[in-house]
Amino acid sequence: MALFLDVMLGKLTTYLRMCGYDAAYALDRGIEDDDAILEMTREEGRTLVTRDEELAARTDDSILVESLDVTDQLRELRGRGLDLSLSEPARCSDCNGTLVREAGRQPDHAPDEKTVWRCRDCGKRFWKGSHWASVERTLEEIRR
Ligand SMILES: [Zn+2]
Repeated sequence: MALFLDVMLGKLTTYLRMCGYDAAYALDRGIEDDDAILEMTREEGRTLVTRDEELAARTDDSILVESLDVTDQLRELRGRGLDLSLSEPARCSDCNGTLVREAGRQPDHAPDEKTVWRCRDCGKRFWKGSHWASVERTLEEIRR
């Protein structure tokens, strides 16, 4: 499922990318105009996720998010049937690029991590560190 997240949903975008979703974000794309957003989601076959009621009403398969808090937003998406869980890192949380595994590479500031993933697009490296663990805790919390 490919998603497009409207402005003000940057935090939610990061979570969704960590869960492996192809999640484009309005501010990354420099798109804020309603018509441009609708055209882009149609062209790329993305489901719009927005807090804007009017904009949501203009597409059939959009997801309207009402909460301000990201944990509550995740609960709403789970209620809409999205699978929110972590397995292997697959998407860059910064730019939405796809990640490739770099076996044997260890970042200097995380020497205990065995496996590192690198973004094909921006080159940033990821591993399952403390941030990963905190996201995992949040996702467990919304299942309760
Ligand atoms: Zn990237």
